[in-house]
Amino acid sequence: MIEPGATIGILGGGQLGRMQAIAAAQLGYKCHIYAPDSHSVAAEVSAFHTRAAWEDSDALARFAASCEVVTLEFENIPVAPLASIPDGKLAPGTRALEVAQDRLNEKNFVAALGGRPAPFASVESAPDFAAALEEIGTPGILKTRRDGYDGKGQWRIMGPGDVQALTLPGQPLVYEGFVTFFAEFSVILVRGRDGTIRFWDSAENVHEHGILARSSVPASPPVLEQVPEARRLAGAVAEALDYVGVLSLEFFATAEGPVFNEMAPRVHNSGHWSIEAALSSQFENHIRAICGLPLGDTRLAVPGAEMRNLVGKQALAGPSILADPANHLHLYGKDEAREGRKMGHVTRLLLETGR
Ligand code: AMP
Repeated sequence: MIEPGATIGILGGGQLGRMQAIAAAQLGYKCHIYAPDSHSVAAEVSAFHTRAAWEDSDALARFAASCEVVTLEFENIPVAPLASIPDGKLAPGTRALEVAQDRLNEKNFVAALGGRPAPFASVESAPDFAAALEEIGTPGILKTRRDGYDGKGQWRIMGPGDVQALTLPGQPLVYEGFVTFFAEFSVILVRGRDGTIRFWDSAENVHEHGILARSSVPASPPVLEQVPEARRLAGAVAEALDYVGVLSLEFFATAEGPVFNEMAPRVHNSGHWSIEAALSSQFENHIRAICGLPLGDTRLAVPGAEMRNLVGKQALAGPSILADPANHLHLYGKDEAREGRKMGHVTRLLLETGR
């Protein structure tokens, strides 16, 4: 067990690190943020901050030496330099990163465990793309294998016109068939150092322009029917990776059952509601897990909740949101409300769900 008072290292300096650091502080830990960015909203609420490049092995080694345990809030970190963090100090480990950083690896990994992704094919060249279109057809989505998030690095291919208009970006891609879904949902679990797994209620998620807009718990009954199968897969992923911490998987709810979309080896935007609406939040349980503390209860503390992201200028409405006393406002302290940037979120507790 890592005793309160110790320092937890967090790779990445964004809002997920900020909310982890707040939960760590509640349990008596200090945080040390490692991030290359000039402004870190996680460092603003943490005791220590290293600003250095992901590839800087010396800086990473010094950072790791100052921490009892190191975790992350961002998965697109080059894996090779992480070798300068001593074995066992990084939770989750590099294997989880290797799988989740690459959409092709992720789909193959999940399929090998019995999960069902959308039909997919690797695309490295124009002939590959032609073969993928032949096999999978349209509509579909071409995605970069690496570094895509919030709908970035994705091209919708509705028909031949889109194929002709597209210049293939010079990086490895995956083409996947368009899934006809009636809802989207996520499975978020925490796995402790002793292998105990707990799941939060699955949120039903609505995306707009590829970015999460809203999450609600409990999910609607047709989605709830698909949760057990999705949980089996998420649990198998966590076991196969000998995972420690919070792990998130996103699914499409379809007439044929849950279709795996993607996973994140970290706390997830669709679990932010858990701060106020679960007995223990995803952030608190992540800190408990990596520190070897007993896990907190993940069940709902209220009948339901809705989380809405404040994207770009929507965050300017922040303070007026508090006019409704059922709302909880979280602003991340980012300085520029750029279009598509997640600036904050608001969670509204539902004292009755009507379901
Ligand atoms: P992603 O970044 O892959 O999670 O994609 C962001 C959002 O785009 C998803 O949450 C879906 O709303 C939509 N999307 C991505 N892939 C597919 C697909 N194969 N079929 C249908 N919708 C998709």
